[in-house]
Amino acid sequence: MSGLDSLSAECKFCGALLEPSHEGPCTNCGHQGKLLKASISGKVEFRGTLTVTSIREYYEQNRWVLVLNILLTVLLSVLGVFIAGLWGVAFGIVTGLLMIRFVPSGITKVREIQRR
Ligand SMILES: [Zn+2]
Repeated sequence: MSGLDSLSAECKFCGALLEPSHEGPCTNCGHQGKLLKASISGKVEFRGTLTVTSIREYYEQNRWVLVLNILLTVLLSVLGVFIAGLWGVAFGIVTGLLMIRFVPSGITKVREIQRR
């Protein structure tokens, strides 16, 4: 249910209460001008959905994989001392590619996305 609950009026200058239908100068101060105040009640309903997305980014570190990576890098570099020339270059390229393909990374960037 909605509708007009109350209607009142007052002088714009001195605030004296007036009848809403009052016309002409204020009976208290003599100035002309009134403020009408209306009170209306009702019910408003909203319907909808709200989706909240939270994104959390962090780096996950696997210590043992990191140690393995460092050991392999150092060991393969030391092997470069013994394998010289074009064979050394070929060995470096092949082992580098194999490490990229088969050795997991010690640090992984993790991105968690939650939608509610
Ligand atoms: Zn007045």
